[in-house]
Amino acid sequence: MIVIMKAKAEEEDVNRVIDTIESLGLRTQLNLGAERVVVAVIGDISKIGEENFFRIRAMKGVENTVFVSKPYKLVSKDFKKEQTIIDVDGVKIGGKKIVVFAGPCSVENREQIMEVAEKIKKAGASMIRGGAFKPRTSPKDFQGLGEEGLKLLYEAKEETGLPIVTEIMDARDVGLLSQYADVLQVGTRNMQNYTLLKELGKCDKPVLLKRGMWATMAEFLGAAEYIMNGGNENVILCERGIRTFSDYSRNTLDLSIIPAIKDESHLPIVSDPSHGTGRRSLVLPMSKASVACGADGLLIETHPDPDRAISDADQTISLSSFSKLMEDIKQIAKAVGREL
Ligand code: PEP
Ligand code: MN
Repeated sequence: MIVIMKAKAEEEDVNRVIDTIESLGLRTQLNLGAERVVVAVIGDISKIGEENFFRIRAMKGVENTVFVSKPYKLVSKDFKKEQTIIDVDGVKIGGKKIVVFAGPCSVENREQIMEVAEKIKKAGASMIRGGAFKPRTSPKDFQGLGEEGLKLLYEAKEETGLPIVTEIMDARDVGLLSQYADVLQVGTRNMQNYTLLKELGKCDKPVLLKRGMWATMAEFLGAAEYIMNGGNENVILCERGIRTFSDYSRNTLDLSIIPAIKDESHLPIVSDPSHGTGRRSLVLPMSKASVACGADGLLIETHPDPDRAISDADQTISLSSFSKLMEDIKQIAKAVGREL
């Protein structure tokens, strides 16, 4: 349930509403919008009952009370109309500028990550991405360098100033990863790992939440709600392709979810054409299409020697292709009123 306050409601009106809700054993979360305050009710809504629902609606300063039947509330535009802009060390995600998170699938060694950091910075990327803990289909495959990989990313950050995005796979690693990373990525396979999502809800790092490769939009937004429900409002959504019958690509990049989410949620959403297609030749056209349909950013896998990338070589583009991609995207961004 959400309680929408009148534009001219006073602070004491809002406080009275909060006290009433909390006296019923429920929690509240506030959105202090530019025009009005919206109070979200969190917890077992059945505790409210019909009588209290109408009692709250009649309170001074209240415009309306709405029962939300969707599996999400805090992520929805009903709760917050204004677009959320997340500031990571001065990089603003969700604003006019398209943000590009670039780097290899896995951090492999110092030379690799340093070369990537330097070249993507020159090409105009906003953040460096690279996996230190890797979710692999086979346990025999390279699992990432672990903390050593995080240290190398940190060196690359010190050298270039690019903030770090890296994947977290285990709720027990929030403390460790937070020492190095600026944004914690939840991979497609963990989108419904609720233990992990709840832990991330309690931490102070922005989260890049990738869509489960099977997930509906409601499930995707429901996963984001878990993080926001814990108090962490900095969630960046990421479309990374879903499983379909398509036989020419690894996944099907579901671009129409980008404008669909823009209608439904205030959270920024970025696109990952690398995992979304699994094919080098499709990364550039789908990056263009992503920006054209409203994505707030891109996640691109790039490597100094793509053919030798330890993971995801098929979809990894060279550093020179990456620079060219950045140039091409600039034109598209301009055409849709954004900038790069
Ligand atoms: C990645 O970004 O390297 C990755 C493993 O992504 P996904 O979880 O989307 O497969
Ligand atoms: Mn990858």
